Amino acid sequence: MRALDLYEKGKVKQFKRDYHGFSALVSGTKPYEVSVSNQYYDQGNCQCYLGQNDTLCKHMVVVAIYAVMDGKKLSNEDKKISLSPVCSNRLGNLEKGELSIIKKSIIASLEYTKLEPACIKTFKELTGRETCFGWEEPLWEISEKK
Ligand SMILES: [Zn+2]
Repeated sequence: MRALDLYEKGKVKQFKRDYHGFSALVSGTKPYEVSVSNQYYDQGNCQCYLGQNDTLCKHMVVVAIYAVMDGKKLSNEDKKISLSPVCSNRLGNLEKGELSIIKKSIIASLEYTKLEPACIKTFKELTGRETCFGWEEPLWEISEKK
């Protein structure tokens, strides 16, 4: 809740994404340099007392929230704590524009997906074989790059 408060008061400044994760300057009693891993949102560094003692602090949590929300306003639904996936009960078709946005975000997330070296080796062996599933081509491309 304290991290949400920081988020809504616009305390996250100079937010940056890099290969390893996210960094920002979070203003509190003084400005803290904060970084959060993009693989484990609950891991990172902060200059505050808790952060220096390896404890997840509100500054790291607010940077993780900023990374997920892209700085956009939080809805009341976003602020609820959910312990499992919840169905929206909305049925419908995606518009072409919405579909395109979702596809782009999936493709961007794939950048962070890592394949096991053993899988890459297996896909190399499958190169050129038709499986009739149609998903093999991008995997061949990945295994050829490695
Ligand atoms: Zn902190």
